[in-house]
Amino acid sequence: MLIGAMVLAGLVLLVLVADRGTALMTRVADAGSLVYCRPCDMRYPRDQLVDGSRRCPQGHHIATASRGFSMSTVLIAACIAFIALGALLVASGAVATR
Ligand SMILES: [Zn+2]
Repeated sequence: MLIGAMVLAGLVLLVLVADRGTALMTRVADAGSLVYCRPCDMRYPRDQLVDGSRRCPQGHHIATASRGFSMSTVLIAACIAFIALGALLVASGAVATR
């Protein structure tokens, strides 16, 4: 039961990490090209932005994609914690594996 849940958590973790990796790759690909400004509904080349790439030429603040805290980060942490806890319980013999 616990082993099955751990395998499942591992699969979820794999999917989440793969999703993260893909998002990272598209972000890197985007970095050299265009940045979207919502108020203008336009895309600008990154080198046209002002104030450290945080404002468009019209002066709107551009919300860049959040790098740090996100839901997938929490899920990844939860999966890792669950697997670690499960492994610990199995290793210590607290849970019968049969
Ligand atoms: Zn703008």
